[in-house]
Amino acid sequence: MKTVAVIVAAGRGTRAGSDKVPKQYRVLDGQPVLAHTIRKLAEHGGVDGIVVVIHPDDLSLYEALNTGTVPKLFPPVFGGNTRQESVRAGLSSLKQCNPVHVLIHDAARPFIASELLDRVAHSLLIHEGVVPALPVADTIKVVRGEHIESTVDRRGLWSAQTPQGFDYLKILKAHELAFEAGKADFTDDASLGEWQGLDIIVVGGDSTNVKLTTEQDFKDAEERLGGGSGEQMAEARIGQGFDVHAFVPGDHVVLCGLKIPHVMALTGHSDADVALHALTDAILGTISDGDIGAHFPPGDPQWRGVASSIFLREAMKRLTNRNGSLVNVDITIICESPKIGPHRDAMRESVAEITGLDFDRISIKATTTEGLGFAGRREGIAAQAMALARFS
Ligand code: MG
Repeated sequence: MKTVAVIVAAGRGTRAGSDKVPKQYRVLDGQPVLAHTIRKLAEHGGVDGIVVVIHPDDLSLYEALNTGTVPKLFPPVFGGNTRQESVRAGLSSLKQCNPVHVLIHDAARPFIASELLDRVAHSLLIHEGVVPALPVADTIKVVRGEHIESTVDRRGLWSAQTPQGFDYLKILKAHELAFEAGKADFTDDASLGEWQGLDIIVVGGDSTNVKLTTEQDFKDAEERLGGGSGEQMAEARIGQGFDVHAFVPGDHVVLCGLKIPHVMALTGHSDADVALHALTDAILGTISDGDIGAHFPPGDPQWRGVASSIFLREAMKRLTNRNGSLVNVDITIICESPKIGPHRDAMRESVAEITGLDFDRISIKATTTEGLGFAGRREGIAAQAMALARFS
């Protein structure tokens, strides 16, 4: 096996949660943090196997992750009292499988970009150790009590992230030597490698690859995953509409509010704008508010010959009254003629003007029915529309 990821998940840190669950088991966007981390590593083609080091007390929490379907995952290994002991336990468990490289990763960093894994894996082909890191941006102070003693020159200072990649046998040896020497104060694996004189380089880290520590970290993470509490999230609803109008003798049709010269006209109570009627019904559909006929009965003389933009504006008003706003609309006009293409953008501008929606969010498509059916026999025009609305 070439590359195995060791996820260190034995920490007792409950700082981030009041629920007393170690933070790597805290739920983030519907799943424990550790499940996110395992999935991210399992998805990467450069990771051939994964071993998770857990605390014996967390066995039931780990089993509840339902990782049975995750490929590449080895049975969990029990860690020790310190991170260093836990990593050593994880590395020791791999003696049989003897990978070429290991990627040692903190369970509480679920946002590992595949590009970051690529960078680490690529540099591991040349170096004995690779640490993703970011240059320190803040000015660093040495403080005693509440008094500043000095300011550290931050040039050359980098803050280290994980996954840290190593030649397996070399980092295993470093851990074993540290254990034998009774040295237990290393804060990451690179520092053990440095102590043993390994060739370790830094590659660019990723500012989104945060270690979830504080309550704010978890809030930010929820927001980034798009979940939030669910309450601030806008609800989206979809609606669809369909309409048909028949041809009668005439010299123009009205489609999407646009007068288009034609050898026939469309018949209807209003201006028979079949496309706007379908769109009006689609928008009413987003708020489950009946259909165009319910709001503008065909028998009512006040709607005789009126522009159908009136109906569409009324549907928009009803949507707005429900705190809804359109996201996009998509209209398909079905006829053999007139040709829609030359008028497409003018129609989009017309719909934009009536609905207030951006031109870019209005799609107008056309199709024939290959000579089949009423549209194919040029007896009329059909239109269908979909609308997506967001509600705050
Ligand atoms: Mg109609």
